[in-house]
Amino acid sequence: MTDTVLVLNAGSSSLKYQLIEPDSGKSLADGTIEQIGEPSSSVADHGAALQAAFEALSADGIDLKTCGLVAVGHRVVHGGAVFYRPTVIDDAVIARLKHLSMLAPLHNPPALDGIDVARRMLPDVPHVAVFDTAFFHDMPAAAATYAIDRELAQKWHIRRYGFHGTSHRYVSEQAAEFLGLRWDRANQIVLHLGNGASASAIAGGRPVDTSMGLTPLEGLVMGTRSGDIDPGIIGYLCREADMSIEDTEVMLNRHSGLLGLAGERDFRALRQRIESGDSTAQLAYDVFIHRLRKYVGGYLAILGRTDVISFTAGVGENAAAVRLDALRGLQGLGIEIDEDRNAQPANGARRISTDDSSVAVLVVPTNEELAIARDCLIAIEA
Ligand code: ADP
Repeated sequence: MTDTVLVLNAGSSSLKYQLIEPDSGKSLADGTIEQIGEPSSSVADHGAALQAAFEALSADGIDLKTCGLVAVGHRVVHGGAVFYRPTVIDDAVIARLKHLSMLAPLHNPPALDGIDVARRMLPDVPHVAVFDTAFFHDMPAAAATYAIDRELAQKWHIRRYGFHGTSHRYVSEQAAEFLGLRWDRANQIVLHLGNGASASAIAGGRPVDTSMGLTPLEGLVMGTRSGDIDPGIIGYLCREADMSIEDTEVMLNRHSGLLGLAGERDFRALRQRIESGDSTAQLAYDVFIHRLRKYVGGYLAILGRTDVISFTAGVGENAAAVRLDALRGLQGLGIEIDEDRNAQPANGARRISTDDSSVAVLVVPTNEELAIARDCLIAIEA
């Protein structure tokens, strides 16, 4: 029987699951349980969510006891400095992960809930944690270090960790394969633009910079997160607007970005408003594009020579206007988008640059679940 891996991605109010054959890359079933713990919802907690996922799988004719399940893979956002390889979970790992929740209070606790419940419900297979920070673990110190008091940073483990690493690695591998380049020789920029958004510069398979930092708040403008701001804004609001630290964190993580600027976090809806002449939506879009171009320019300079720029995730894969606006007018830097290719919707990896563009520009669908499933096999075979 072919091996399968169940991949779980537990957020604060949602649980995404997918059953995958890592060898073929085939997805056998997937789904999302939403509104976990919300007052109007029938799903009280992560235990109930996982139960609902099992029921949905069994309605699809899948029995986890007889489907060749060899591992359960858990997406964990923050691995801190400790975890940078796919890690088979035991009680000692759980204890260290709990400690790391301090670095990622919004993201790690729901994943821990998911792990706890899944280990109890599926006790006979190994559970593996795969970390969003892992790929960036060896980023050069110049890119990973904040210019703040050195001892304070060391004591509190403050560095730039980077996130979406599973996606940046997977997409860069796919891009190299698509172009017939060796991953460990290619210089790449990956733009992961979803609800969360991040950019990375990868030189010869090694990330040399990424836009997210200690937390997934730094960098690009996102659906609800501000990305880069002057850190002075936080002290100013605490002092003058009588906001608490928690207030500012909620504001920057949940009420900023496109939502804060235009009252709309969904890119499709934002585009519709722009098309009907809404200037507030237009400004939100312009801020988003301006920031993105700043990162692209910065990464071109860091890499020196760039072979390929890839767009991925919900916005990157689907919003042709964003891709064009992000790279418009850069012929002088060897980047030329073919507007017809860019406008063609298609599945799978594809080129959207002209044949003359010296930097290839691609759209590459990400598949974090498949990458996690394959990482699980590596962990359990190790
Ligand atoms: P997440 O970070 O939650 O995984 P996704 O990668 O699914 O996010 O991206 C979600 C974003 O992608 C939303 O803003 C959504 O509007 C946008 N999106 C999805 N499809 C399209 C489309 N066809 N055109 C423009 N934006 C799209």
